[in-house]
Amino acid sequence: MSAIMPTYGRLDVTFVRGDGAWLFDAAGTAYLDGVSGIAVTNLGHSHPAVTEAIRIQSGQLLHTSNLYHIPGQQRLASTLTQATGMESVFFCNSGAEANETAIKLARLYGHHRDVSEPKIIVLEGAFHGRTMGALSATGNARIREPFAPLLPGFVRCPRNDIEAVMRASREYPDIVAVHVEPVQGEGGVHALDPGYLKALRRLCDQQGWLLSFDEVQSGNGRCGALFAFERLGVTPDVLATAKGLGNGIPIGACLTRGAASKVLGPGDHGTTFGGSPFACAVGQAVLDTLIDNQLWTRADPIRETLLSSFSDTLTASDKVRDIRGLGLMIGIELDMDCSSLVQRALEQRLLINVTAGNTVRLLPPLVMSDDDAAALGQGLARIINQAANTEIE
Ligand code: PLP
Repeated sequence: MSAIMPTYGRLDVTFVRGDGAWLFDAAGTAYLDGVSGIAVTNLGHSHPAVTEAIRIQSGQLLHTSNLYHIPGQQRLASTLTQATGMESVFFCNSGAEANETAIKLARLYGHHRDVSEPKIIVLEGAFHGRTMGALSATGNARIREPFAPLLPGFVRCPRNDIEAVMRASREYPDIVAVHVEPVQGEGGVHALDPGYLKALRRLCDQQGWLLSFDEVQSGNGRCGALFAFERLGVTPDVLATAKGLGNGIPIGACLTRGAASKVLGPGDHGTTFGGSPFACAVGQAVLDTLIDNQLWTRADPIRETLLSSFSDTLTASDKVRDIRGLGLMIGIELDMDCSSLVQRALEQRLLINVTAGNTVRLLPPLVMSDDDAAALGQGLARIINQAANTEIE
């Protein structure tokens, strides 16, 4: 019996090495990585800049404490704020923690304005993480409800429905923030409508609410800009990120601007590990690599190559309901049972993911070559063709 709690249904494969868009098992078999550890290794595996930063910083200093100044934290915060137009940063260790920060910040913002029971609007289909606050904000009842009693204070609205938000604002006078993923990931890869986001921005400005974006998955180059909000044309007051910021080293960040920067003070929030010299040195190497090479400009070309080879090879096109997403968050919604697809792909040495029941999610790294992108698109189409034929038999 395994000594690991069985919280994951794992595929029967073990990787021992990675290089760019490729992972290798102990026998040396290569797998093309279309998942990037769920949008984490945006720079690919074993990126030399990341490896070098780990080598240097681990020989110098891993951890002190937020009781002391950490110059690497200051530097990473400057890079992040200069690149995004945000103003200040709280560093933590994961996406859920970045969202917890955003939730606490929104509540305190409300209390500073004498709102005694502040509420936050969240969306159906949202995923914000597994800690109690982030889980309570999450849309999927199946993963949320077993952990009742949940945190109160969330008002759920359907995605892209500004009327629903207006109705909520009339029904609940104590709303203080709207917290959304500009591109929903786990919920089936849905980029929110830019018009809806602009309307949310206007409403937040009118009402004095904070507009808070969860870019844990969509950030750090993945969607064809450093952060997806830049492409969608709406700047949030609060920005939570993690995943690709460390390329595999745990680091999260909650960024703020304007009134949101004036909320958290000494003693209001904290973390032992967050913003350590080590995590920040790695985050710095990741961001510098992304920014110096404008690596996000690869997202659309990789997407186009992948999807055109997918379409060219697909014979079972009647099974494709929708292709959506932004940059290298690609969702292909199918009209078929998808339960066998991930295993079938693994047998073809391709790593893919299925989310929201019937949506194939592809999250390839920004360093994937055109040839590999074409191979991933072709391979996926063949697997869908094969699965469709099996369905008919
Ligand atoms: N927010 C979003 C949009 C995510 O996709 C995820 C993870 O998939 C999280 C939050 C939670 O991040 P973590 O697993 O690092 O806590």
